[in-house]
Amino acid sequence: MDEQAKLSRRSVLRGAALLAGGTLAAAVIQVKPAYAQKAAQAAVKYQESPSNGQKCSDCTYFQAPSSCGVVDGKISPNGWCALYNKKS
Ligand code: SF4
Repeated sequence: MDEQAKLSRRSVLRGAALLAGGTLAAAVIQVKPAYAQKAAQAAVKYQESPSNGQKCSDCTYFQAPSSCGVVDGKISPNGWCALYNKKS
């Protein structure tokens, strides 16, 4: 194999490696990070009523009218779960 053919083969291999790396990076970027997923209500002991005066409408994570930033599903303003964090 002459020197030019070796260089050309090396260039093709390098290009293929870069392409594979770029494809892998694009695939990784599209994966949702674990922290972006909300917790299941049962996993955080969600209930439809307040607990010791604590309720969703007073929690940092509550999103009116009936959502939560960290717990999945419909959330009552009068509900409560183990992730409760009082609004400051
Ligand atoms: S108490 Fe739990 S379910 Fe309610 S808003 Fe806060 S984190 Fe969400």
